[in-house]
Amino acid sequence: MYLTNKAFNAFVDYLNKSYLKKDLPDNVRDVYNEDEYKKFLSYREESRHIGLISNIVSIVITLLLLTLNVHALIFNAVGSLNVYVQYLIVISAFALLDLIIGLPFGYYDTFVIEEKYGLNKSTKKTFALDAAKGLIIEVVLSYGLIIIIMVLFSRFGNMAIILCTLIMLAIMVVIMLIVIPLMRIFNKFEPLEEGELKDKLLALCAKYGITVRKIVVKDASRRTTTSNAFCTGIGNRKTISLDDNLVNAYSADEITAVFAHEFAHAKYRHVARSLPFSIFRLLVFFASLAIVLNIPALCTAFGFDGVNFFFAQMLSGVIIWPLSVLLDVIGNGISRKHEYQADAFAAREGYGKDLISALKRLSKESLSGVNPHPLMVILNYSHPTLSQRIDAIDKAAGE
Ligand SMILES: [Zn+2]
Repeated sequence: MYLTNKAFNAFVDYLNKSYLKKDLPDNVRDVYNEDEYKKFLSYREESRHIGLISNIVSIVITLLLLTLNVHALIFNAVGSLNVYVQYLIVISAFALLDLIIGLPFGYYDTFVIEEKYGLNKSTKKTFALDAAKGLIIEVVLSYGLIIIIMVLFSRFGNMAIILCTLIMLAIMVVIMLIVIPLMRIFNKFEPLEEGELKDKLLALCAKYGITVRKIVVKDASRRTTTSNAFCTGIGNRKTISLDDNLVNAYSADEITAVFAHEFAHAKYRHVARSLPFSIFRLLVFFASLAIVLNIPALCTAFGFDGVNFFFAQMLSGVIIWPLSVLLDVIGNGISRKHEYQADAFAAREGYGKDLISALKRLSKESLSGVNPHPLMVILNYSHPTLSQRIDAIDKAAGE
């Protein structure tokens, strides 16, 4: 199952690569000039190669760990300790192993490839600090989740499917509320300076009845040349975050157009509308975990004495792979529909031209692909392609 999954991904990647040879759609031909497009193609090729090598290394290591029953061996080695301590040690050990395997590839990607194409602005110190902070956050999160899952399934049996789903939903809401404090672990945020941009954003908020708590600028330029922006918060009390790269290089009208799109998501209540599907996904995940937990042979086949929660959740992730792909297809489809709605709203409100200009610039500065293979879009794209979005925006603006 694990290998089929990897082979399938490699196949889609290959299709996507061959699709690059096709002519670009008319409406995105001006994103890159001839030289820039050559640069984009060679950037793509280089990152694909490093991705491929990293994938092969991770497949070989995973297969080795599984055939040699390494998970069970490590659990047995700490078997005399308290069960909570055992899980903490094993989860930390595997997170550290992941980091050690991934680090050389991450380093090469950032300081060789991205550096060569002018995308990187990170220093080695920032890179090392990010890796260390990331490791700590990963250990804390996965340890917390596995302990919750273990306690609930041991106490409540299959009822835990519903309880775990509810707790995950609560965690997702909390993360949405504290996303900026969480990001402060990695970034600094300053209030947006007074001026044209702030006036335009506040006017936009007022127009759509959105109460903004604050507008902040994130120091993204410490790591990258690309830009991003988002608005967060529950209900109408939003915090707007803009990357400094965006504020420094884009016009106030372009940025306002991006937020007309963002506010449309709030207006149409897209998060709430995708909630039933998110709940369904979580139920499927925990139900599959329950199935693995109810068949102890699945764990004992890999050297365990009985059911092991850490290993079972890994295994259930692999077993439901085909179902996960199907759920991704549906989830991405819902998301792309919402993106079209938000674009159309911005276009009808008169922001179409500036939105198109911002989207083209964002694609170009991150060396993004402008003609992905349709299967790639169906499987992995939460947003329509640039060309599809421009078409739809033009159409909506004409309405
Ligand atoms: Zn959107």
